[in-house]
Amino acid sequence: MNAYEKKIHKLSQELIPVFDELDTETKEIIKEHAQYCSECDHMLDKREVMDAEMESAGDNEGKESTIKSLKKLIHNNSGIGIMLFLVRVLVLAVISYNSLRFQNFEDVVQTFQGGTFLIYLPTAIFLLIFTWTFLNKRWILYSVVADLVVLLVIWQLPLFYKI
Ligand SMILES: [Zn+2]
Repeated sequence: MNAYEKKIHKLSQELIPVFDELDTETKEIIKEHAQYCSECDHMLDKREVMDAEMESAGDNEGKESTIKSLKKLIHNNSGIGIMLFLVRVLVLAVISYNSLRFQNFEDVVQTFQGGTFLIYLPTAIFLLIFTWTFLNKRWILYSVVADLVVLLVIWQLPLFYKI
């Protein structure tokens, strides 16, 4: 190593710890020097390994917190999803209560169907849009199936008095 190379070596030793912040040109000079200086080459290698470890540690932490927040989100979704079903039950209960004041079964069924069409259907559509926007997509499936079953059953209710 001549005097000039020794100066470069001295500078490299100072600069390698902050290698990432250096200009591209400076980095090139240090890399060039490291090709024939094992000491600086070793320092550079150690830095790269440390960087890689730090990055992978950061990645794992990121993944874990993503999974955690995802679980929390799904958990919260379940609560909201169940609440939306309770809203449907409540609406059906109100419609039933309103229908049952009639003595005649035919009137009861017709009022029940009218209430379903005027109250349950708009509520269900609103809840489906809400579910689609905010909740896990599987709740859409549950909701659509539940709504179809409810509407189908209520639609078929006249069969009971038409027989
Ligand atoms: Zn060196």
